Amino acid sequence: MKTQYLIIGAGLSGIVLAQQLAEQGKEVLIVEKRNHIGGNCYDYYDENGFLIHQYGPHIFHTDMKEVWQYIQRFSEFTNFQLRLKGFLDGQLLPIPFNFTTMYLAFPPYLAQQLEETLLTYYPYNSKISIGELREKAEQEQKKALSFLADYIFEKIFKQYTMKQRGISAEEINPEVMKRVPILISRDDRYFPHHQYQGMPAKWYTKMFEKMLDYPNIKLLLNMDYKIMINDIIYHQLFITSPIDEYFDYKYGKLEYRKTLFHLETHNVQSFQDNIVVNYPNDYEWTRITEMKKFYPQSLTYHIDRTVICKEFPGQWDIEAYPVESSENKKMLELYQADAQALKNVHFLGRLANYRYRDMDKTIKNVLDFIK
Ligand code: UDP
Repeated sequence: MKTQYLIIGAGLSGIVLAQQLAEQGKEVLIVEKRNHIGGNCYDYYDENGFLIHQYGPHIFHTDMKEVWQYIQRFSEFTNFQLRLKGFLDGQLLPIPFNFTTMYLAFPPYLAQQLEETLLTYYPYNSKISIGELREKAEQEQKKALSFLADYIFEKIFKQYTMKQRGISAEEINPEVMKRVPILISRDDRYFPHHQYQGMPAKWYTKMFEKMLDYPNIKLLLNMDYKIMINDIIYHQLFITSPIDEYFDYKYGKLEYRKTLFHLETHNVQSFQDNIVVNYPNDYEWTRITEMKKFYPQSLTYHIDRTVICKEFPGQWDIEAYPVESSENKKMLELYQADAQALKNVHFLGRLANYRYRDMDKTIKNVLDFIK
């Protein structure tokens, strides 16, 4: 077999790469191990007409106009904005923690006092990380600030981080927890600072099919590239699959915190009051998503059946989060040094770079690479 560009993996990186190359008239072959395209963004309709995100909920959000404009070429998007609730002390309260959360969690006199204290330190509509708030509480030695910092840390971050990532909130890279800030406002959106948010008007897989719809793109599903790579003649090879697998794990296996995305069907019109509910402290799952609520206009919305996705972290099947330990970092450096020494082989995307990436950054990374 012969091709100009061989891409391993039909996940988001592989698809954007193939689309960009095909648009320039290049000949592309994609080899994918799974029986579907889209990687972990893959979605499909089940036999009852429910849209399923097989590998957990994917919500598109970005502040990069370039990326937003790019994906609009392949799908319309709904104007969905995620509002998430956390199951905190038996109540569903908005996360990220914001002034609304504060007034629901505490008696009014206390919430008011906390609000006033916060506003003496931070301007309205700003955002801070839990790390910053804890530091400030320590510096200022103010009772109200320490009380609030402890409450948010204990109730929202501490156990959730341990449960989801398998590492304590004190030890984890602070950038991870910064993804969920504390909002000095009543804004209760999960991605308040992302101007562009939405869901594909149809579904992700449909959008990916359109991205791959070029006569000069060929796709092989259900195929382990290791079996046939020696039979393919190519100019350039792009690996979007795991970097350690490419090198036959010669320095060892890069570790991931895995997750089980467990689907359940319930014979009720609505399972929970919110699309996504986080469980920082109770139960062994971290999140429950009720998927039909992404599409309130859908035909299945009003019927007495619904599908939920529960996320169980631990030793399960899907490699969700790279484990940022010093051993893994060292191992990655060895693989990266070997990768750099290769000619005509490029490593792109979250598995090949051993990095957790949102969809928008994944797309941006490939667009920049092509440039
Ligand atoms: N986080 C938390 N409690 C929550 C939500 C998030 O402690 O209720 C922390 C946790 O450390 C998590 C990080 O914030 O790993 C990022 O959360 P996000 O929802 O972005 O995780 P993702 O959806 O990317 O898996």
